[in-house]
Amino acid sequence: MKILVINCGSSSLKYQLIDMDHETVIAKGLCERIGIAGSKLTHTPAGKDKVVVEKDMPNHKVAIQLVMDALQDPNHGVIKSTDEISAIGHRVLHGGMKFYKSTVVTEEVKQVIRECFDLGPLHNPANLMGIEACEAAMPGKPNVAVFDTAFGMSMPEKAYKYAIPEEYFEKYSIRRYGFHGTSHMFVSGEAIKFGNLDPEKAKVIVCHLGNGASVSASIGGKCVDTSMGLTPLEGLIMGTRSGDIDPAVLQFIMNKEGIDINEMLTILNKKSGVLGMSGGVSSDFRDIETAAKEGNHLAEVALEAFFYRVTKYIGAYTAAMNGVDAIAFTAGVGENDKNARKKICENLAFMGVKIDDEANDVRGERRVISAPDSAVKVMLIPTNEELAIARDTLALVHE
Ligand code: ADP
Repeated sequence: MKILVINCGSSSLKYQLIDMDHETVIAKGLCERIGIAGSKLTHTPAGKDKVVVEKDMPNHKVAIQLVMDALQDPNHGVIKSTDEISAIGHRVLHGGMKFYKSTVVTEEVKQVIRECFDLGPLHNPANLMGIEACEAAMPGKPNVAVFDTAFGMSMPEKAYKYAIPEEYFEKYSIRRYGFHGTSHMFVSGEAIKFGNLDPEKAKVIVCHLGNGASVSASIGGKCVDTSMGLTPLEGLIMGTRSGDIDPAVLQFIMNKEGIDINEMLTILNKKSGVLGMSGGVSSDFRDIETAAKEGNHLAEVALEAFFYRVTKYIGAYTAAMNGVDAIAFTAGVGENDKNARKKICENLAFMGVKIDDEANDVRGERRVISAPDSAVKVMLIPTNEELAIARDTLALVHE
């Protein structure tokens, strides 16, 4: 059984064809600059060199057609016909209050995705375009929407409500949703399996630390809190996002600089985080680490502040759950940066967290990195959102 996984951005489309019998990738690729001059498709069949196709892609429909052509190409293709694809799983950013889990796409589902354009203005329109392009290219084939917000929907009211007048929740569904949900769901589930934890009761904190970064707390695989909010701006310090901030700072800067709220939010989303704090060194954590090592004070502070906030969230979520059985690190920084994992865990010694330096000397590999006598299991669990999407898709088309 083969599942095609599609992740559409406003000008990009990532895909993976996954063999679900072995959970292996058959081919993957990326369409870039859709709707912009100079568009290209990079297609990589497993174990072979990548192929670059430079062709105009005025929209996602054309991009999907080129993906279909690449998958069936006599030279670098991997299937004879699209009949071999059982279903298509789509990453969809925002499911609003409607979707607690993945769902087979129907006209009603598409309408809800459309109704959530306000909540996910950059992603939801692109996600819908991807779904409609697949419907046109492969009529009758099941499409499944896997929502990035679904995991956060199990949060209790006390965790998802903002302390603002209730009318805004009632009128506009203003609440905390959380993002990176597919990754948090996958990693917390894998941590329970890998750590031999109680599938019903295990208290797990997942630190998804990439350019975008978030922490989640879950009990028995169900999210009870997560650090991103109505949008991905809340929570941790990220590559370019500020994370938590006193909203009065916005008013102060806007008044002083004479800028409007849109410009202010662009600053908080695109020019803040470690990029902003370091005085513009970089949004890439490797560059920040290099600059810090070379003695750049601002880069050093940015890095320390990033670690500090992750540690604080772990402490808060441990209290929220009245304990924690496992802490799992994932995504670019979480999977690759042993120094970050160590620094974040240092001040958790009070709750019995003990990192094993030798075990922690690892990149991108599933592993327990805490000492055998650590009170909390600390793990590195590489995330795999595409596989999580494919698993959900398979489960739904099998029902
Ligand atoms: P996103 O999907 O949000 O773009 P990723 O999960 O791909 O982010 O993570 C990208 C981040 O991971 C970058 O900031 C990059 O610097 C960081 N990263 C990757 N490898 C390392 C490493 N060895 N040490 C520190 N940071 C790393």
